[in-house]
Amino acid sequence: MDQYAVFGNPIGHSKSPMIHTFFARQTAQDISYQAILAPVDGFESAVQAFFSQGGKGCNVTVPFKEQAYVYATQLTPRAKIAGAVNTLKRLDDGGVIGDNTDGEGLVQDLLLHGISLADKRILLLGAGGAARGALLPLLEQKPAELRIANRTEAKAQALASLAAEFGPVSASGFAELGDTPFDLIINSTSASLSGDVPPISEQLIATDTVCYDMAYSEADTAFVAWAKAQGSRYVLDGLGMLVAQAAESFAIWRGIKPGTKSVLAEMRRNLGRR
Ligand code: NDP
Repeated sequence: MDQYAVFGNPIGHSKSPMIHTFFARQTAQDISYQAILAPVDGFESAVQAFFSQGGKGCNVTVPFKEQAYVYATQLTPRAKIAGAVNTLKRLDDGGVIGDNTDGEGLVQDLLLHGISLADKRILLLGAGGAARGALLPLLEQKPAELRIANRTEAKAQALASLAAEFGPVSASGFAELGDTPFDLIINSTSASLSGDVPPISEQLIATDTVCYDMAYSEADTAFVAWAKAQGSRYVLDGLGMLVAQAAESFAIWRGIKPGTKSVLAEMRRNLGRR
């Protein structure tokens, strides 16, 4: 049985083993997938031991994504732009390829919900690791505009410079966003984790503005609740992104892409939602 795993610290609450077990069942693949707690200063030796014992591939989560980027012997273009790796796959020549499927997971989840990004005006709130990982996949969808806004404006400017060659991207602080509504607002800040909402004008949301929070929780996240209160008719949280990034990883390892819809519904039931 081929062995897969997710490395993180902490890792106890990871949903990846459950998601990949659903995928394996759905696609009739005989694999095992376990969560491995690596010591904060011991990622490389933990992942090395996993591969030398025959492990085929792994996911990598907080706080090891940058270390996985360094560990990989080859990187995909989107991993290079992301500066972080969430998927490693052992190659036949002994090397290890590093990819980043988080941003593609976001895009695929939006597409799954019938939200096309082509020619749209997109506002990306936040300029941390999750925002960086989303840049290339978002720009590959050919939006009319991608505006990055962040509390620390310099970080938004740095991401915009990084992505400028791939599409129409600009950056600012929250206060400079004006009041013309966007088609899609993606919250990639971690503000929801502390019950906060980035301080943006409610005028940026029209009734047909899609609002997406990369965070998710059992109850509505702070951003989801706020967007609904502003009258946005289409509001999504990041559980679908989590499932879709896992599907991208599974496809990299197994060459077969699982469907995410039924697994997402199962995960929502598990979270006690909808
Ligand atoms: P980082 O720590 O790298 O970045 C955090 C970002 O949030 C920074 O831009 C920071 O701004 C901003 N921020 C933090 N607190 C506030 C606040 N109170 N008000 C406004 N801005 C704030 O985190 P990540 O990028 O790794 O993760 C961000 C979010 O995305 C998390 O909620 C995480 O759970 C989620 N995520 C979801 C995934 C999924 O599959 N659904 C995958 C990956 C991430 P500043 O630069 O000024 O400090």
